[in-house]
Amino acid sequence: MASLPLIGGCMCGALRYEVSAPPVMIYICHCTNCQRISGSAFNVSVIVAEAAVRFTAGDPARVEWVSDRGSTRCGLFCGACGTRIVNGGVPSTGVYSLRGGTLDDTSWVQPVGDTYTRSAQPWVTFVEGGLRAETVPVDYAPFIAAYQAQGRF
Ligand SMILES: [Zn+2]
Ligand SMILES: [Zn+2]
Repeated sequence: MASLPLIGGCMCGALRYEVSAPPVMIYICHCTNCQRISGSAFNVSVIVAEAAVRFTAGDPARVEWVSDRGSTRCGLFCGACGTRIVNGGVPSTGVYSLRGGTLDDTSWVQPVGDTYTRSAQPWVTFVEGGLRAETVPVDYAPFIAAYQAQGRF
């Protein structure tokens, strides 16, 4: 089980945040943006309401870019150590994709599936029995339902 608020922060500790509402869903993203931002093979995308996110220490730096699907995105990160905290839409879509590895406690995090499998590294193992999408899911409803069925909150 997990408890609210979710808390986390950047590697150097200058930027700290709280999330006051349960996530909408959690999945693994293998898009090339997530690979580059993380410097790794994928990101653990914890989708949360923008309005539920509050920075409790530090002010995030901001960057904008165009995603693999051609939409403008923004990222909030620590200007001191560079740790990315969230990505969001421009204009706002109402939700942030929180980088799951920045949570203080990741023990409860269980992704429901994998997105952008087309650019996944060939040696990566997908979530067992999980949902899959070659790019962006046609419909996020099954992802949301699968996450809610976990009953983490
Ligand atoms: Zn930092
Ligand atoms: Zn991604």
